[in-house]
Amino acid sequence: MEHVKCLIIGSGPAGYTAAIYASRANLAPVQYCGLQTGGQLTQTTEVENFPGYPEGVDGNQMMVDLRQQAERFGADIRDGIVTKVDFTEQPYKVTVDDTTEIAADTVIIATGASAKYLGISDEEKYKGMGVSACATCDGFFYRKKVVAVVGGGDTACEEAVYLSGLAKKVYMIVRKPFLRASDVMQKRVFGTENIEVLFEHNTLGLFGEDGVEGAHLVRRKGEPDEELVDIAIDGFFLAIGHHPNTEVFADYLERDAEGYIKVKGDTPCTNVPGVFAAGDCADPHYRQAIVAAASGCKAAMEAERFLNGK
Ligand code: NDP
Repeated sequence: MEHVKCLIIGSGPAGYTAAIYASRANLAPVQYCGLQTGGQLTQTTEVENFPGYPEGVDGNQMMVDLRQQAERFGADIRDGIVTKVDFTEQPYKVTVDDTTEIAADTVIIATGASAKYLGISDEEKYKGMGVSACATCDGFFYRKKVVAVVGGGDTACEEAVYLSGLAKKVYMIVRKPFLRASDVMQKRVFGTENIEVLFEHNTLGLFGEDGVEGAHLVRRKGEPDEELVDIAIDGFFLAIGHHPNTEVFADYLERDAEGYIKVKGDTPCTNVPGVFAAGDCADPHYRQAIVAAASGCKAAMEAERFLNGK
């Protein structure tokens, strides 16, 4: 069995930053990229708030740059999904793609988070036929068409603005009477002519023959003036937040009710010595690339300390 000093799981800003720091500290890290190499930022357009890029940076490009930076210092970055772990004794055992077992003295978990769905059966029925959780991946198919984006946060606003440049019209389906997004994103939404925000609307279902042709909505659900509304749309985009990718660690790591890995105070330390969590998989509050990168740095430094202590 291959034995490594530091195994990094996940390849978003947290994972790559951990790889940069761990390789510079001579930990010879091995990193497995997971299902989506580069993580959530590969599905975004422009990143405007990461310090050091006055003109913004393409999310994909930023992740390519981070990877190259880690490889420059010797990080061994591989494709593969971690399917099982055993943290009962050191060195810890991690199984990749159900086949390869690796023994690791330290493990840095940076598995991030994935898009949430509403949980209505029509999402499954029309998946790939009009339902998507990634505007930048699938927006192209909706040129000059009508689409809806569900959610009122920064992601929903960003996706709506992006889609407004392709589609004829974009509805935002927002369950509250206000947007939760930052001021700058709200201004962009309200300043875009072909975006219509449907406040206090919830989605009941979707309809269409060979793909999405419309959505059944309810306005002011549960109020005396509740009203059923149908809209004609070709695409239905979810942007209602994310859930952490931590299921595979459930038997060993303490997690909160939503599945975020619990860390000790301001550190990336989990309840298992030598196992650290960084980025969105352990951050229910900030969920920002810059915060994820910083926690990846901390995790690598803690891994080094742990190994020195041994
Ligand atoms: P948020 O949790 O901020 O927003 C989720 C949105 O989806 C809310 O409007 C919420 O409604 C709505 N929602 C959740 N569940 C449902 C449901 N079942 N039915 C209908 N609506 C639902 O998630 P985001 O992904 O937008 O953002 C996550 C974090 O990332 C935030 O901190 C955000 O600021 C940040 N971010 C920053 C960006 C940037 O700075 N450029 C870009 C993208 C994200 P309600 O308000 O009623 O709860």
